[in-house]
Amino acid sequence: MISYKFGLYPNQEQEKRLLEVLDRCRFVYNQMLEGLNKQEGKPNRLELQNSIPELKEKHPELEEVYSKVLQYESYRLFSNLRGLARLKKNGKKVGKLRFKSKGWFKTFTYNQSGFKIIETGKRHDLLHLSKIGDIKIRMHRTVEGKKIKQVTIKRYCSGKWYALICCEQTIPVKKGVEKKVVGIDMGIIHYVTDICGRQIENPLYLNKYFKNLRKIQRKLSKKKKGSNNYQKQKIRVAKMYERIKNQRDDFLHKLSRFYVQNYDFIAVEKLNVNGLIRISYNARNMMDSSWKRFTQFLSYKAERAGKTVLEADPGGTSQECYKCGKEVKKSLAVRTHKCPYCGLEIGRDYNSAFVVLKRGLEEVLGQGLSEFTPGETEPLPREISASSVVEPGNSPR
Ligand SMILES: [Zn+2]
Repeated sequence: MISYKFGLYPNQEQEKRLLEVLDRCRFVYNQMLEGLNKQEGKPNRLELQNSIPELKEKHPELEEVYSKVLQYESYRLFSNLRGLARLKKNGKKVGKLRFKSKGWFKTFTYNQSGFKIIETGKRHDLLHLSKIGDIKIRMHRTVEGKKIKQVTIKRYCSGKWYALICCEQTIPVKKGVEKKVVGIDMGIIHYVTDICGRQIENPLYLNKYFKNLRKIQRKLSKKKKGSNNYQKQKIRVAKMYERIKNQRDDFLHKLSRFYVQNYDFIAVEKLNVNGLIRISYNARNMMDSSWKRFTQFLSYKAERAGKTVLEADPGGTSQECYKCGKEVKKSLAVRTHKCPYCGLEIGRDYNSAFVVLKRGLEEVLGQGLSEFTPGETEPLPREISASSVVEPGNSPR
């Protein structure tokens, strides 16, 4: 799921309604929390949700709120409850859930239904909210053609209102065909590492040609500008560039083709240049642009083939345990991921590849894979092995 935030511009009447809904949701939330505290044994969300009709009888003003909005409060309560349990599990001292006092309740949610976007063609479109009305909203085009799953209305301390719109992204997979997924980590030592255990060394030509390139560039700088020799040397440099580019593209075409042919869903890291320390500026630029190109090649090939490439959030992929989700700090020199929480011990890049896949799937399906085992490994095609140093099927475990 992807969510977008848009400004809402209610008129006075609408704002009054919005504030009323907020307060009624707060009331229902608190009532459910009271009910929860009375429950014995395992907390039961449905039981709380089923208490709403009774509440409505006693408090008829609740009828003025779209019923699913009230029901959603039971999810909010249980989500808070889970958050609390998580903190507890991590060894934090936690109390109980608190009742929400007036003014502390800032959001309510329309889930699945009760809302509609009405395009006006003007500067503001309209967000229709059942039992509230049509509120002015300023949207950008990003939501076009996407299926909206949920609308959360939020009031900030400043008094401004926003709509958080959650959209679903579907994975185009043929009927009856199970989608094959892969996560890819990109790095300096290993150009790519994927969840099936394939690791590809950084192509040697980068280093080799890079040295040569520097040499002939230095020669160029010593020649007199505009002279015959200068022109000749300039052509040499351009040719060298061309050669590097061709070799690189050739390699990247083969590599991206391999992934698109073999997988339906490919998650890669959104490029994170900060991770590239301890190499020279030029080499860094080179690596950076080659990864960018790899992602581009993957994307357009996938689009043609009706498959999906997703660029996942790169923040801290190497520091997160894919299995239990906890943070496991390590410096660049540490090549093995050893998780003190769940005992997982695998190659550092291998773990990152899993985190990338998990994040990619979370973004698209709104759910991660808590239990995930890699599929069987097809060996990399020989032409890729030939153009670079490759260790096919060499498990980094
Ligand atoms: Zn772990």
